[in-house]
Order: sequence, then structure tokens, then C-alpha cells
Amino acid sequence: MELLFLEPIFKERIWGGSRLKTDFGFDIPSNTTGECWAISAHKNGATNIKNGKFSGMSLKDLWMNHKELFGQGFSVRPREFPLMVKILDAKADLSVQVHPGDAYAKKYENDLGKAECWYILNATGDAKIIYGHSAKNIEEFKNLALNNQWDKLLTSVKIHTGDFFDVPTGTVHAVGAGALILEVQQSSDTTYRLYDYGRTDDSGNLRELHLDKSFAVIKAPHKSSNNDIEVIALDNESTLTVLTSNKHFEVQKLFVQGNLCFMNNAKYLLVCAIDGEAVINGYKVKKGDSFIVPNQIKDLDIIGEISLIITKEAN
Ligand code: ZN
Repeated sequence: MELLFLEPIFKERIWGGSRLKTDFGFDIPSNTTGECWAISAHKNGATNIKNGKFSGMSLKDLWMNHKELFGQGFSVRPREFPLMVKILDAKADLSVQVHPGDAYAKKYENDLGKAECWYILNATGDAKIIYGHSAKNIEEFKNLALNNQWDKLLTSVKIHTGDFFDVPTGTVHAVGAGALILEVQQSSDTTYRLYDYGRTDDSGNLRELHLDKSFAVIKAPHKSSNNDIEVIALDNESTLTVLTSNKHFEVQKLFVQGNLCFMNNAKYLLVCAIDGEAVINGYKVKKGDSFIVPNQIKDLDIIGEISLIITKEAN
């Protein structure tokens, strides 16, 4: 059984830049490339397997037709592959937004909800994010929003390389300029735009806002979901950090220096290399590579110096 490496997909965005090329070596379509969809089975862009006997098959088709790789019983398996991993390059601020939970997204968007979380790969100078708000309840939120008192309403947080943020559904948030982020999320493409700083496009048009839907899903008051992060020493050099474990996914950072055998005790793993290089089960893996560890592979033999972000589906 092989590790399943994926061919990334790139999305141009008005806020995107060129760091997916300069920092990660990806072959990007333009200097306004905002997103690398590293692992995705979403209908708006499914990544293909690029090695071995499943080469050329999309992750969507693999999920539908080879359930054994994901350790799923047919009756309890979700219809859609539940997770997605992206790398975001924000050259400019993203709009302030919020995502619905599963029930609302299913009813109004025929999509999953979008719980997400961010590992800050790199933050330049004074990079910030919007994370939460100051309103005590949704009436106060609406009142401040409709009166354009965004400075009073939105909470801005300075970010540093290596920071981590859990962003459950209903959380008001925005990635800020200068942030390079690895995002793990539910497999969803539903975003409600709340505020876009009054920016216009080349033709002088404002981007569409979705205020009513935003107000329907925003959680007020804001509750920070960041827990203390625990770093576990695996041996003299290597460490494992549990970044989050929530009802949708568990995300860990594994740093290996030297030689380590990492056990897969989950149904399957989604792995992104974010720094360094190593040989893993005989495959050369370097920063920017993403792969799936199928159910049949229980041990990862890692030799080298590498940082991996490892995602598991929640039980
Ligand atoms: Zn978001």
C-alpha cells in the first residue's frame, strides 16, 4: 500500500500574492494567487492523486469508490469527503466574514458548514487578523455593524509565525495582509461576507455583502476557542503538538529531527509538509508536499528534518 500524494489546485484571489511560489516553490497561475487547495474533494476543486495505481483519480472519486482506504463502513460513511486543507497567501486583507454551521449550510447552501482553523506559517511585520468581536449579543452586533462602527465592533489580534487559531462556525474573522496560513477546514466553500472595508474593484464596484445570513449565524458574545497548546517530547529531538481536537477534526504538528516511527491510530491521515525534508516510508517528502496515509498503513518511518501538519477526521 502506498502513500497517496496529491496535485495541488490554485485559486486566484484579489487579495492573493506570489508567496506560494517564492516560499513554497509552487507553479502558480499569477502573482495574485491566494489559495493552494492542497487536499480537497470539494465540487469546486478536487485534487488528483499523483502517484501509484490511483494516479490521475480525484480524491472525490477515490472517496466514493475506495472506502477501504479511509477505514469507513459503508452505512455510516459521510457522503462527502469531510475535510479540506489549504495554504493561504494574503497579500491584502481578506474581507471580514463568518461561516454557517452544518444545519444552516445544508438548508440554505447545499454545502457543509465550515469550521476552520489556522496555523500561521509566516507572519510579516505587523500582520494581524480579525478574530471575534466586542458585542454582548446579536442586537448590539447588528446595531454597531449597521452604523458602520467596525473599529469598535471587531477585535484585531497581532499574529506571529507558529500561532494557532481555532475558528468554529459563527466566529467573525478575517485573515490580514502579510499572513501565510495553513488552513484545515470542513469541506465547504460557503462564506458570508460581512464587511469589505468599503473597497471597490477596478470598475468601482463594491463586492457583495451577505448581512442577513451573517447575522443569522454569528455567535454573540464571541467566545475564544483557543486552548492551551501542549507540546509532547517524543524523543530527544522530535515533538508532537496537538493544535486542536474538536468535533470535526484533530490537527497536530509533528516535528521530526533524525529518525522516528509515527503510528497511525486513525482511520486515515491528511499530511502537509510545511518545512524541511525527509524520507517517509521510502518516499522523498519536502516542504509543500501533501499526502494521505490510507487506513492500511499503520506506521510512518520518517528519516530527516521535517515539520508536518497532520489532520485526522474526528471520531
Ligand atoms: Zn473563513
